Amino acid sequence: MTAVLVLVLGVFVFTNFSRYRQIVAAEAEQSDSSEQSEQSSQSDRTDTEADTQKDANSGAIPEDVRQKLISGDTDGLKIVFMTFDDGPTDQTTTLLDLLDQYDIKGTFFPNLHDEETDGAQFKEIVDRGHTLGNHTVSHNYDLYNNPTSLVAEINQLHDYQTQAIGQEPSRMFRFPGGSLTANQACVDAVTAAGYNYVDWNVSSGDASANGITAEQTAANIIDQVHQHNVSVVLCHAEKKASTMEALPTVFEQLKSEGYTFYKIDDSLQVYPQQI
Ligand SMILES: [Zn+2]
Repeated sequence: MTAVLVLVLGVFVFTNFSRYRQIVAAEAEQSDSSEQSEQSSQSDRTDTEADTQKDANSGAIPEDVRQKLISGDTDGLKIVFMTFDDGPTDQTTTLLDLLDQYDIKGTFFPNLHDEETDGAQFKEIVDRGHTLGNHTVSHNYDLYNNPTSLVAEINQLHDYQTQAIGQEPSRMFRFPGGSLTANQACVDAVTAAGYNYVDWNVSSGDASANGITAEQTAANIIDQVHQHNVSVVLCHAEKKASTMEALPTVFEQLKSEGYTFYKIDDSLQVYPQQI
């Protein structure tokens, strides 16, 4: 379950891969169908008087925290990266409203479901300050049989997103099912194509075939976050009503306990990543 990964360094690539992989150990979740984001754009807040207050919560990782992440010295950190996979759906705006309500920025790993409508949602995600990542067009595990096709789909979504949002989105990728579901050839192809990738170390469990309640979802997330200095939380809030319902509890409790939520910055190589 562990593996040392040697990244093929490409033009865009991210060096120093092996150094701090262990902020936390990613755990694999292999759920069936739907298991299991840079731009870093900030919100356009034109209301100047709100600047000080609101810009403090742009979701960007502060420099002192960034240095701790890079050094691997995460003692004392209480950081959560929320990641939202498999959207967009007709619930994406609802999720964005909820995140606004709690002043939290997250990271989205969408597919491409409808070329007519997904673009507007991608733009809204970015305009509202979140990281827009990439999770392939189709979410089809058969892509793992053909690294070239996998990269083609990632590029297709990336190009579509670029057009939709008017800038290049994140080059952060999440493998459908997680990188453990893929294989070394695919990981090499994705990184050689200039993408970074992130797994997770906290699973909401909301992709289980039987479904779980909002209470179970919240408990899953909170209990696992308590075990990490730096958490990357996998959930599917745009697809699962129970997850959407769980999020206020998660946000309120973790915030009250001193946790801070950031969006993923794909210039960093410090997130759970495991093959
Ligand atoms: Zn997925």
